[in-house]
Formats: sequence, structure tokens, C-alpha cells
Amino acid sequence: MTPPVTPAATDLAAAFTERYGDEPAGVWAAPGRVNLIGEHTDYNEGFVLPFAIDHSTRVAAALRTDRTVRVASTFSGAGEVTVNLDELQPGSVTGWAAYPVGVLWALEQAGHRLPGLDLLIDSSVPVGAGLSSSAAIECAVAVAANELAGTGLSAPELALVGQRAENEMVGAPTGVMDQSASLLGRSGHAVFLDCRSLKAQLVPLPLADAGLTLLVIDTRVSHSHSTGGYADRRASCERGAELMGVSSLRELRVADLAEAAGTLDEETFRRVRHVVTENARVEDMVGILAAKGPGAIGALLDASHASMRDDFEISCPELDLAVDSARSNGALGARMTGGGFGGAAIALTPHDDVERVIAAVEEAFAAAGYAAPAIFAVLPADGAGRLA
Ligand code: ADP
Ligand code: MG
Repeated sequence: MTPPVTPAATDLAAAFTERYGDEPAGVWAAPGRVNLIGEHTDYNEGFVLPFAIDHSTRVAAALRTDRTVRVASTFSGAGEVTVNLDELQPGSVTGWAAYPVGVLWALEQAGHRLPGLDLLIDSSVPVGAGLSSSAAIECAVAVAANELAGTGLSAPELALVGQRAENEMVGAPTGVMDQSASLLGRSGHAVFLDCRSLKAQLVPLPLADAGLTLLVIDTRVSHSHSTGGYADRRASCERGAELMGVSSLRELRVADLAEAAGTLDEETFRRVRHVVTENARVEDMVGILAAKGPGAIGALLDASHASMRDDFEISCPELDLAVDSARSNGALGARMTGGGFGGAAIALTPHDDVERVIAAVEEAFAAAGYAAPAIFAVLPADGAGRLA
């Protein structure tokens, strides 16, 4: 179980000085996130329950006065990108730099003029593993720019800035969950977010006190249909809502599913059933966490996975194997997390069973001829802020 390492804030500041000549004005950090439950519910105006994790993206930053932005990352092959804020528009920056530069563009679109910035980024959030390295980079840049340029936006406002960057500059039609978790998370808590009102509430998630470890099993696979599959599921949800005469699937309750079964074609019905039952599971989990604590949420994790596998059809053999082998070797519950078609699963595991679960998943992957997964523990951590 080797967690990714990241240089200390002082090392990043030194690397910034070496690269750009001057010292940074500060170092900020924003975490990745794990979604405990509530998958593909955010863009249906439903409920999600993510938490910020103890792996984060750091950015050393300094203001400039010439409307120029220089951005570099320790991410392999990233290089350095220089742009002028006056020339930014969707499509003008592509590749990894669209995430940090997109945030600056979105801040300007919201009416905040920036003088220019130098940025150096470093991250311990695994990329493409469903832990939202993208929101981590957006939120780290957002809090840095917000403080340095004195724009004074609140965390929920910065979450929308990050989402806009990802939607319009990167071109990924994602919801606001990831940025909300990265900005609003608190150590030992999950963030219960209503994606219709954007109201967020911290929910205690005392994993360590309950003798539990949340393992992330990164399958390291990304199936080629992930982009098309995501858009296709969104379209199914929109069609389902329209045929049911509601503005979003959030408006439907479990009791409405009988009517939906008679109204919708079989596939659209299953897509709708996933979203409606998943919203109910998020609400149930918040209640169970308050009443009984994290040791009692295993069955809801399992039910969420089954719904994504069978109704929403966004799992894959590697994710199913990770979940099944964790479950049959001591995990209290497990589910795929993130958009699907690859990425990571989570397994809620008693401390004493951690080594057994890791060994069992690794053996099952080897026996199936799959590449070795990366397995590590995550804890609910504090959201974005200044480090130095
Ligand atoms: P996820 O958010 O699940 O990790 P995404 O595809 O949404 O996956 O975002 C990953 C992309 O974000 C990377 O391909 C890269 O473009 C960008 N990114 C993430 N972290 C960094 C980093 N440290 N430096 C540069 N780019 C990064
Ligand atoms: Mg992402």
C-alpha cells in the first residue's frame, strides 16, 4: 500500500523560484475526492456524498502585472505553457493547461479582472483514477488566484468557477460535485450536497474511530467508451425526465418507478431506476451514518454497485472483480466510484482485514490476466486552502 508522494510546500516553492526566478507569493493546495455514494446523480440535480481525500494538488503562485499567465506542472510531459489573458477563449488552450488556465478564464468571465500569474503545479492525486485530479488542479488554482487577486469569492462560488472551466475550457460536461468536495471537505467528514439547491452539509464520517479503512482500488483501466458512455447516459436521463414530464430525475421518487416502468422503454427505465434509487440511497446513507455510524453502510455500497452494474451499465469486468473479491474477503461493502467504464472502486474494510483484502484483489487480478491494480487507503481530509 504505497500512497503517492508529493514534495513539501517548501520544495515546491524552491522549484518555483528555480523555474521563474522570483519566489512565489504562497503555496495553496486542494484535494482530490472519493464519492462515497451518489453516482451520476449530480447532473440530474440529485444528491451526492463525496469526501475530500488526503491526496492533493499544490500550486505555488505569484501575481504578474502584464496579463500574462505562465503555468507549469511536475506532471510527466506537461511542459510550460504561456498565454495572455486577453486572448483566452474556449478552444484557445488545449491539453492539461486548459484546467488551470480555464479557471482564470472563468474568473474573468465572472467579472474579475486578473493582473497575470505564474503557477507551478504538483499533485499526489492519481490521474484518471476517478479521484478527480481535475477538480484538485482547478480548485488549487481557484483558491490561489482568489486570494492573490483579492476576488473574494466564497467556496461555493469557486466551485462553480471550477465547473465552468471544466465544462467550457476543457469541454467535459461534468457536474459541480468534485469541486464542491475539494473546496468544502473537512477532516473526518463527508459533504452531503444537494445538486439542485447547491446546499452542502458536513456529515461526520469517523472511519478510523470505527476501526475502518476505506480502500481505493484503482483498476488502472480506462475503457474507450468512457467519454461516449457518459454522454449517452446523460442523454438517457434527459429523455427519461422529459417522457416522465419532470424538469430533472431529481423530481421522481422510488414510488414513481411503477409509473415509469409503464411509460419508458426498457433501457431508459433502467437508467432512470438507477438515478432514482441512487438518490434514495444517498439520503438513506446520511441517515444511517447519523444513527449507526460508518460500520452500517456496507449494504448501501453494495446496492449502489449492483445498480450501476445492472441498471446503469457503467461498470466493467475489472471493477466487478475488484468489488467481488474485496467483498468476499472481509470488506463490509464495495462499489465502483466515479464516472465508470474503468477507474476505481472503493471497499469499506475493517482494519484487521485490510491486508487480506489487498492480497485477494491482487491475486484475483493476476489470475484474470489483468494488470496489477493500485490499492491504497484514503481518509476524509480538509478541503482547499493555503499551505504556506
Ligand atoms: P480525473 O479527474 O478522474 O483524475 P480527468 O480526465 O477528469 O481525470 O482529469 C485528468 C486530467 O487533468 C489529466 O489528463 C491532465 O490533463 C489534468 N491534470 C490532472 N492533474 C494534473 C497535474 N498535476 N498536472 C497537470 N495536469 C493535470
Ligand atoms: Mg475529472
